Amino acid sequence: MKINDIRTSEIYFGNRALSEAEHVIRTLGKRALVVTGRNSADESGAYPDIAGLLERNGISHVRYSGVRENPSVSSCFEGAELGRAEGCDFVIAAGGGSAIDAGKAAAFYLANPGSAREEIFNVTGDHSRPSPLLAVPTTAGTGSEANRYSVLTEDGGAKKHTYKTGYSYPSVSVVCPRYTYSMPEKYSLSTALDAFAHSIESYLSPKSTEQSREYALSSASAIWDVLKDWPGPLNEEDREKLSRSAMYAGAAIDVTGTGFPHPMGYGLTLGYGVPHGSACALFEDAFIRYNMITKEGRRLLGEFCGSLNVSPEELGDRLMRLPGVELHIGQDTAEELISRVEAASNFRNSPYILSRGEMSDIYKRLFK
Ligand code: NAP
Ligand code: ZN
Repeated sequence: MKINDIRTSEIYFGNRALSEAEHVIRTLGKRALVVTGRNSADESGAYPDIAGLLERNGISHVRYSGVRENPSVSSCFEGAELGRAEGCDFVIAAGGGSAIDAGKAAAFYLANPGSAREEIFNVTGDHSRPSPLLAVPTTAGTGSEANRYSVLTEDGGAKKHTYKTGYSYPSVSVVCPRYTYSMPEKYSLSTALDAFAHSIESYLSPKSTEQSREYALSSASAIWDVLKDWPGPLNEEDREKLSRSAMYAGAAIDVTGTGFPHPMGYGLTLGYGVPHGSACALFEDAFIRYNMITKEGRRLLGEFCGSLNVSPEELGDRLMRLPGVELHIGQDTAEELISRVEAASNFRNSPYILSRGEMSDIYKRLFK
């Protein structure tokens, strides 16, 4: 089915979404650069379906499968160089948020030959618009299919930076819940936690709108339905709920951005291999507790938790425990991780604004 209430990209949703979108996909170009990770595009069934569709429509393709989790700027650049050398005129990204975000960056580089790697973080009017992009997610978490963000890791792996412009949305997204069935439990949980993090952080943002709050609340309550009984086998209905919710939560953060759990979590992901959504979830308890100090935070969390039928305290505690992560991080390392992210605008994107000392306190409490 075509999704009409998210206007960021042309989105098709459901287990028949790829064939429903076929008439649009065939207009995107004549030779595709297909950007994927190592295995998920094949394991999920997305790549075989896409290759079949392309062949049926006389569209050739070349595949770049060098994307890794938390994609590096260089891998996106390298993918685009392959696409250029092979005469590709559009990009298809199939995989988790890492592959979709890498596809967005590759679409920029493909359309901007001669651009240096770091220019992607400083796009100006002199740059060309990115090449057309089809996004086919195989996780239900980031919502990258419905927003303009592409989170990239600088070469060397110390920091994440976001590429975003008014043109970095996928041209077309195909969200097929069936492609998420093959996700191992660790990633099913982490991606659900990520989508939940987007919902709550977006809901508390001063930039939220009536529509973004509606997206955030509907996705949060559907995800909470699944998370509150976790662990449990996920059936097809759960998978559909999670894919739909991740997409709407992705559209919500397109309006608002995310809150402080996101940058606080980056160091755990890059330095300790904690998957992105699980890393964010560890900080949601602190996000809730500090925001409860303010009147506006209490009002918003009252509405949010009321619609989930859970108290803010219970919600924070459950989110912090679900990842099952036990880490010990020494004070010096914690300070170093904080210094890499403390200037992020996310820290000003909720009613309560943390001080530097409070950032350290949160790390001490969680990882002593
Ligand atoms: P991911 O990093 O794309 O994938 C995690 C792992 O799951 C990979 O090993 C991947 O394998 C595997 N996988 C994915 N789908 C699978 C499937 N259907 N079956 C089996 N294995 C599967 O995970 P993600 O959580 O979706 O994305 C995280 C990235 O997105 C981070 O870099 C994060 O910063 C970013 N992010 C972006 C946004 C945004 O709005 N753009 C929002 C939040 C987070 P392969 O390596 O084989 O592909
Ligand atoms: Zn996230």
